[in-house]
Amino acid sequence: MSGKQFTVLVTDKVSGGSLNALLEDDRFEVVLIDDSKDPAFMEALKTANGLIVRSATKVRADMLDAAPELSVVGRAGVGVDNIDLDAATARGVAVLNAPAGNTVSTAELTMALILAMVRGVAEADASVRRGEWARSRFKGAELRGRTLGLIGAGRIGGSVARRCRAFGMDVIAYDPFLTDEKASALGIERADLDGVIERADVISLHVPLTDETKGMISKASIARMKKGAFVVNVSRGGVVDEPALAEALVSGQLAGAALDVYENEPLEADSPLRDAPNLILTPHLGASTQEAQELVASEIAGAVRAALADGDLTPALNAPAIGGEALRRLAPLLELGSGLGNLACALAPGGVQSIDVRYAGSADDALKPLTAYVLMGLLKPVLGNDQVNFVSAGHLAEQRGIKVARTQLSEHSDYTEYLELAIQAERGELRVAGALLGDAHPRIVRIEDYHVDIVPAGTLIVLKNNDVPGVIGRVGTILGNHDINIAGYHQARLSKGGQALAAISVDGDVDQAVRGALLELPEITAAIVARLA
Ligand code: NAD
Repeated sequence: MSGKQFTVLVTDKVSGGSLNALLEDDRFEVVLIDDSKDPAFMEALKTANGLIVRSATKVRADMLDAAPELSVVGRAGVGVDNIDLDAATARGVAVLNAPAGNTVSTAELTMALILAMVRGVAEADASVRRGEWARSRFKGAELRGRTLGLIGAGRIGGSVARRCRAFGMDVIAYDPFLTDEKASALGIERADLDGVIERADVISLHVPLTDETKGMISKASIARMKKGAFVVNVSRGGVVDEPALAEALVSGQLAGAALDVYENEPLEADSPLRDAPNLILTPHLGASTQEAQELVASEIAGAVRAALADGDLTPALNAPAIGGEALRRLAPLLELGSGLGNLACALAPGGVQSIDVRYAGSADDALKPLTAYVLMGLLKPVLGNDQVNFVSAGHLAEQRGIKVARTQLSEHSDYTEYLELAIQAERGELRVAGALLGDAHPRIVRIEDYHVDIVPAGTLIVLKNNDVPGVIGRVGTILGNHDINIAGYHQARLSKGGQALAAISVDGDVDQAVRGALLELPEITAAIVARLA
């Protein structure tokens, strides 16, 4: 026995020196197998809790099935095309990436391309090699005083902005998430997409590939650019319509362009880009520096360690983002969420069709993780512990056709931290709610219209009964006869002599025989047993 708590398998030649976050932590054993086709890799996978890959290893469903202990896959880099996210999510495996380590290298490549593009460096170099000395053909332009138009001003776009400002450029940017504060810190101007397209001398793309950004640089948008503008794309292929770009370079609408990424990589042999003039093509080199490789490896090592040791899934691509500190702070609320989910699972009249998770409280980052915990509590009793966890719960709910909504409520009059589940099930509705007592003590405070006060832990018997004298005694006798110890008995009624609800916390389990005996009491109309984790 190694005595280590976690084993992390590292492949694809991720350099050992960058893994210090794991190597220097006594709790971790690191297994380095550079080639995932090595039979030793599959053997090591059987006991691995974490797996770190670059892009060579394909992490597909069969590989995940061969790794029963796996809970985290880390990609040393950004793109996760080599990882089957759905398969990982369905198995409750968190997928993390290392989005920040590439930033400076990619921004610097962008600068290299912009400078090379406006001065015709690549074509001038080729012409000298051909024996020419065509100085008059290569009259370039200065960057100083020209306008850079950024589309996407996140990590890389922001870094490019800073560098271009240093070259004396004016920078305008379109990014729906760019705040005035960040724009002014970067010394740039916010603009809408049309403004960037129409005003920029150099357009630089730094967006993810989404439905919205796909084909964003199209024949129509290029036609609206300044004649003689330049376009550089170091983001993702697919954002630029490649045939339209090639055509605009031939026609002279664009003076030049530079691409590092393509719709299909490697670039097809017959791509029109290969013959287009004033175009620099690099083979996806943004992150190809020694520094970026080391930075992403150490970033992912730290992230995998935090995920396994602290449950910190902030960088997870397939789970609601929540950091270690937030996880600790929100723990009582999350415990309440999962307990209420358990209770709702037991009490829902038939299969759950939709759930609205409603929260009133001070934590503005709580609703997403809370919803994941509620769904975890709702699904675990049905689907089992192996399948359902924080990462997979949302996906599993979706797969089962459960509609999930989240609502942030305004303040609750009685509780500072309040959580309510409104459920529509096959045969009716259910409402359950909970709150925190003080800062840290979760309580179930409402079941349907009944006000209760129950700790969401252990076994809970929920009885519906007619409000007549002697019920509590008779229920107590039955439980006592079955050796069941009552930890708490909460009786609530809507009106005197009407329907009442009893929520009884008990130690240990309650089997069908006990439930049957309770139901034999004439005044008991329903008896449900919920196990609250
Ligand atoms: P980021 O998430 O920090 O920034 C992306 C920005 O794009 C965000 O601010 C977002 O608000 C903005 N955005 C999203 N949709 C938009 C839209 N429709 N219009 C305008 N802006 C929009 O990401 P990053 O680290 O700066 O990476 C940017 C891109 O560069 C990504 O596509 C990434 O995959 C790519 N990248 C390429 C290489 C390479 O080797 N060429 C290396 C690293 C990253």
